[in-house]
Amino acid sequence: MWLDNLNQALDKAVKPIRFFFRDDDAGWANKQLFELLDCFSKYNVPIDLAVIPQAINYKNKELCNRVRQNNGLIGVHQHGFRHNNHQLDGRKCEFGSDRTYTQQHLDIFTGQKILLDYFDEQSELIFTPPWNRCNQDTVNVLIDLGFSTLSKDNTGKPLDCQTLRQLPVNVDWFKKCQGIRMSQTQLGQLIEQVVTNGEVVGIMLHHEIMDQQERYTICELLELLSSHPRVKCEHMKKILRVITVKN
Ligand SMILES: [Zn+2]
Repeated sequence: MWLDNLNQALDKAVKPIRFFFRDDDAGWANKQLFELLDCFSKYNVPIDLAVIPQAINYKNKELCNRVRQNNGLIGVHQHGFRHNNHQLDGRKCEFGSDRTYTQQHLDIFTGQKILLDYFDEQSELIFTPPWNRCNQDTVNVLIDLGFSTLSKDNTGKPLDCQTLRQLPVNVDWFKKCQGIRMSQTQLGQLIEQVVTNGEVVGIMLHHEIMDQQERYTICELLELLSSHPRVKCEHMKKILRVITVKN
C-alpha cells in the first residue's frame, strides 16, 4: 500500500512528528470544500483554510457556521485578495513586482477587514499568497498590518522577514514533476522524506480539484496519521506556538 513506507518511517521517529494541512482557495467550490471538511471531521484532524476575501459573501454562510461549530477543527486565514494574476510577464503572482507597496497594502488591508467581518477573532494573522509567491513589499505590508506569519513554500528568492514568522508547506498534494502529476507512491515517498528529515510536514491541498477518489486517498492518509502514536496533527497557529521556524 502507498503508505507502508511512511508508516515505517513514523515508527522509527525518535520524537513526535507534527503535521498540518493547509487547504487553499476557500470561498470557491463550496461543495468540494465541505466534502473535504467532512473527511477531516471524520478523523478529528485539524485543517487550516486559506480564504480568498473577495470570494466570501452570503453564499458562504455555511462555511462561517462550520468554522464556528466544528469543535475548533477548522482554522481560517487570508489568501490574497481576489486571487487575480497581476504579473504581466513570468509566473502568476497577485503580490509581485507589478504591484506597488500601496496597491498591495490596500488589497491586504481590505481583505483583512472582510475576513474579520465574516469570521471575527477566528480569522488568524497568517497570510498565504496565491501561487505561494510574493515579494519584499508584501512582507513589509504584512508587518505594517500586524500579521504574525507568512505561509508559502520554500521555493523562490529568500525574503527578509524580520519579525514575520514563516510556516511553509513542503508537500504539494498535486505536485507535478516535468508536467506529470506524482503517483500515489511518489507522494508517499515525499511525505516520508520530510518525516525522515524530522521536519514539520505541511501539506497543501486544493479542494476544488479533489474528486471522490482523491478524497478517498486523503482519508487513507488521515486514518494513518490520526491513529499513529508518533504523529501530532495540529493547527498552524498551534505549531507556531511550539516551534521556532527559521526565516
Ligand atoms: Zn490559491
